[in-house]
Amino acid sequence: RAKALGGNTFCFFTAEMGEASRSRMLMQSALRHAIARNELQVYYQPRVHLKTFEVTGVEALLRWASPELGPVSPSEFIPLAEEIGLIDEIGDWVLRQATMQAQQWNVLFDKPLKISVNLSARQIRTRKLLASVAAALQDSGLPAQQLELELTESALMEDADVAAELLAALKALGLRLSVDDFGTGYSSLAYLCRFPLDSLKLDRSFLLQVQPDDIGRWKLAEAVINLAHTLGLSVVAEGVESAEHLAFLRTTSCDEIQGTCISEPLPRHLAEKLLQGVFASGSLSGISGTTR
Ligand code: C2E
Ligand code: MG
Ligand code: MG
Ligand code: MG
Repeated sequence: RAKALGGNTFCFFTAEMGEASRSRMLMQSALRHAIARNELQVYYQPRVHLKTFEVTGVEALLRWASPELGPVSPSEFIPLAEEIGLIDEIGDWVLRQATMQAQQWNVLFDKPLKISVNLSARQIRTRKLLASVAAALQDSGLPAQQLELELTESALMEDADVAAELLAALKALGLRLSVDDFGTGYSSLAYLCRFPLDSLKLDRSFLLQVQPDDIGRWKLAEAVINLAHTLGLSVVAEGVESAEHLAFLRTTSCDEIQGTCISEPLPRHLAEKLLQGVFASGSLSGISGTTR
């Protein structure tokens, strides 16, 4: 597989090196050039109001199509980017793409959508992020209140004091902060309250666990949503795939939903097409067969 990288890439393999570390090295060297070679792309997944299906925003999700390795999942290359010190550069690139895109859609649709950008643990360890976010907002002209930053529980917990300080500074820019994948870590909502959060994304494992005959779990999800509301957080359910998920969520006071039952993450032009259809007809009905 080393050959696939072409003649001008130097990889030194020794016999002792396992296949795993070999492919890691390949991925590292490929990732270092991914931005410059235009291999990264931002996809957009719409999220909608649970009751009305009104599109409220889109989440920016990074995609890497490596000519050598094929498509690589962000769950794989984001941790690697953190390890090898590329995350700030990649994160800055995503922020710029996403804010510029959202501002273009502001002009095109005259309908302010929220744009959510994911941040990883390493990105909230330095003050660099603050300058990067401020510059992305300034250069794109996107109103700060349309930008939402998503942080996972574990990223927040890792060095909570540093995170709290940085989040306060970010919040002062006027943007929104959201805790992603809630329910996968061990933090309590009460603890998360020390951060200036606006919303909470219920991890899709909540829905995987939900069985129509499992009243206990249904009640748990509902209790979490109600507690979040009491704490002033709005709630987004992620990974909403099926009519069953939707039916369950409709028995709760969840605010927004996101998932393949609405739309997969889409490349820029397809996302734009979807939004165009939505804003022309006033709803998502019939656009992607979602009126379940
Ligand atoms: P996440 O922020 O929790 O994103 C949701 C993930 O669930 C995305 O995976 C999305 O494609 C997937 N998804 C959406 N709807 C459904 C559904 O109905 N069912 C199922 N099973 N999955 C669904 P993706 O795009 O592979 O991203 C994985 C993770 O990588 C993200 O999780 C996020 O933590 C991270 N990530 C993605 N883009 C970026 C980025 O630009 N920067 C950083 N730091 N992390 C990113
Ligand atoms: Mg997210
Ligand atoms: Mg999530
Ligand atoms: Mg998740």
